Amino acid sequence: MERILSERAQIIKPSITLAISAKAKKMRAEGIDVLNFSAGEPDFDTPDSIKQAAVTAIEEGFTKYTAAGGISEVKAAIIEKYHAEQNLSYNPEQVLVSNGGKHALHNIFQAVLDPGDEVVIPSPYWLSYPDMVKLSGGVPLILNTRLEDNYKISPDALAGAITSKTKLLILNSPSNPTGAVYTARELTALAGVVEAAGILVVSDDVYEKFVYDGKSFVNLLMVAPHITESVIIINSASKTYSMPGWRIGYALGPEAVIRAATRIQGQATSCAGSISQKALAHALKTDANLIESFRQSFEKRRDLMFEGLTAIDGIRTFKPTGAFYLFADVSRLYEKVDGVTDSVGFCDYLLEKWRIASIPGQAFGEDRCIRFSFVADETTIREGLLRLSQILIL
Ligand code: GLU
Repeated sequence: MERILSERAQIIKPSITLAISAKAKKMRAEGIDVLNFSAGEPDFDTPDSIKQAAVTAIEEGFTKYTAAGGISEVKAAIIEKYHAEQNLSYNPEQVLVSNGGKHALHNIFQAVLDPGDEVVIPSPYWLSYPDMVKLSGGVPLILNTRLEDNYKISPDALAGAITSKTKLLILNSPSNPTGAVYTARELTALAGVVEAAGILVVSDDVYEKFVYDGKSFVNLLMVAPHITESVIIINSASKTYSMPGWRIGYALGPEAVIRAATRIQGQATSCAGSISQKALAHALKTDANLIESFRQSFEKRRDLMFEGLTAIDGIRTFKPTGAFYLFADVSRLYEKVDGVTDSVGFCDYLLEKWRIASIPGQAFGEDRCIRFSFVADETTIREGLLRLSQILIL
């Protein structure tokens, strides 16, 4: 045998968010005083009533395979949420419950992409998109945005990027890593381009509950419900209910796409975990005030982090309106540190010298920046800012 690994396996990079976050957690476990601003993982514990729903599921023996696409109870709760919050109507055949939002995305890419199909990915992008697209044979078409344009794509830029091979656009608002949030007017204009080009859209809405400055969340279908047949919504329990380790997320979309994705899931993992499905069904009914308290807490931390970073000479910051990341241009600091020429080197330096874990912008398509997640508590954020401000004094 000449070659063991498939070509596919060889082109896929490891997820750097998971790698750095694991390294930071390991250093902490070894007693090293690391400040962890790496993975986007809310620091709140999963609410007790959700845990209790899972305990009850275990005690009642709800521990067997479920239907491939998810149990009726959780599908009904998802349908109800979308009806109540976004005035969108779905039937159970249009809902797929998967092992996390990431898995839902993977199932959708597997269901709609053929080799050579292009996928427009606005950059800076969540680092897993390009690799996930490649894993399904697709070709990422990176569409750069600028800080001056609030890291958003314009309808003209989108129209100019689309070719006869373009199948899909990925929209992620609020965005990981920039925290940019599209307005209803901007989305309406983009919907026009999508409709004219006849492409599909994946609307990755996992940060929907975390929008700041009195703004509201809006997605493509809320402004253009007539294009439901072209839009697949992705959502997850990980961020909203602080349940990343439960691995539970879902997709809603056109019946043909969801049916195909469900078949794929059925052959790959059978179904999502039965206990996590029960927990999600309960989580979807969580008191809105609790989620609002998470949001308020993140907004306070955003303010603290933004003000602190803005005050540091050499760091250029973009104020995020949503999600829980601050994407800062630190490229002017590279030359101040021996041997550092890029964001990877700078993040290594921050971790080794200052015990600050952050994610290099290179992984998100923008090497001038690094990403800090502000899900850490306020004391950690203050200490991190203090350490960062000392780099310049060296
Ligand atoms: N989406 C989160 C992040 O970007 C979680 C880690 C991951 O799956 O990438 O930090």
